[in-house]
Amino acid sequence: MKSYRQELWFDIPTRRAFINITPQVNDCLKASGIKEGLVLVNAMHITASVFINDDESGLHHDYEKWLEKLAPHAPTSQYEHNNTGEDNGDAHLKRQVMGREVVVAVTKGKFDFGPWEQIFYGEFDGRRKKRILVKIIGE
Ligand code: ZN
Repeated sequence: MKSYRQELWFDIPTRRAFINITPQVNDCLKASGIKEGLVLVNAMHITASVFINDDESGLHHDYEKWLEKLAPHAPTSQYEHNNTGEDNGDAHLKRQVMGREVVVAVTKGKFDFGPWEQIFYGEFDGRRKKRILVKIIGE
């Protein structure tokens, strides 16, 4: 069995964003040389997510509105976590809802996706460098 590990770095200029990272993860898959196996992609920060869904801008605006209803950023005083001096209590909750990681099957050297599946990085407390882990195992 072969294995491959890579970190991908992001420095998102806004507090929140959704980025399609499928091309970068595909570059990792090509570099790994693995044709049959599994890809794990996970955020390495507790205020960011990796998830799979449609690359459709209306849906991404819907996520933004829905997450702000569930866990509004302001007033920041509503979160006990912010008593530590941080202002990102909402970002931890948003990350929990959107998830930490995805696993994708690799078949014949390609992601074995459903018809509209793409991999996204979800940022909820940006404006600083953050990374995700790509781990690929197989043959
Ligand atoms: Zn925090």
